[in-house]
Amino acid sequence: QNITIAIDGFSSTGKSTVAKQLAKHLGYIYVDTGAMYRAVTLFTMQNGWIDADHFDVMALVSNLDKVSISFTFNPDLGFAEVYLNGKNVEKQIRTLEVSSFVSKVAAIPEVRYQLVKQQQQMGKDKGVVMDGRDIGTVVFPYAELKIFMTASAEKRATRRYNELIERGDNVQYEDVLRNVQERDYIDSHREDSPLVKAEDAIEIDNSDLSLEEQFDKVLGLVQM
Ligand code: C5P
Repeated sequence: QNITIAIDGFSSTGKSTVAKQLAKHLGYIYVDTGAMYRAVTLFTMQNGWIDADHFDVMALVSNLDKVSISFTFNPDLGFAEVYLNGKNVEKQIRTLEVSSFVSKVAAIPEVRYQLVKQQQQMGKDKGVVMDGRDIGTVVFPYAELKIFMTASAEKRATRRYNELIERGDNVQYEDVLRNVQERDYIDSHREDSPLVKAEDAIEIDNSDLSLEEQFDKVLGLVQM
């Protein structure tokens, strides 16, 4: 019988890697909710409403009805890529620039309201693995399995840095580390749905776990 699996945690804890593997193994759908907040951020940037020293929240909020986010499964990659107003933005949303604004956009209650509603709709038939910051607390408080992933900021920044370098982005480790720390802070201090571990979530610190060990651990929890 299909269940709902919520995977939450800080930035770059490797949530999505485990979530994708798990969804594939179980034949479930996988939803990357961070990609949705990133897509809204890209929309905000494209319209010139956010940069290093200004953020026109009103303009974003009053144009939220013009944002349409969807996912389309890419069989070559084995997961669904995110589309913003019909355009594949999977690559564009992963830049350090988008990462530097996303937590500010994700702190806006109107943005969260709209995305949470869509996420609840996507997972309503169960058989879903969803990763994010508020899945076990807000989106699916009744999820049958909740996992909260943690790892040291340095471990997470190293992983993220390697990913960005692999894609060919020109970034410095210090900037990636600062971004990870900044997002941790904003995500856990915002007023609307701050990042907290759900009381009934199982915490996994993967600082010293291989991908295989993490996957086995999570699968073990599903089968319990
Ligand atoms: O998971 P990812 O690092 O791609 O998420 C990007 C950002 O989106 C997070 O730092 C957080 O600010 C926001 N987010 C959120 N709630 C979620 C998923 C992501 O606020 N459920």
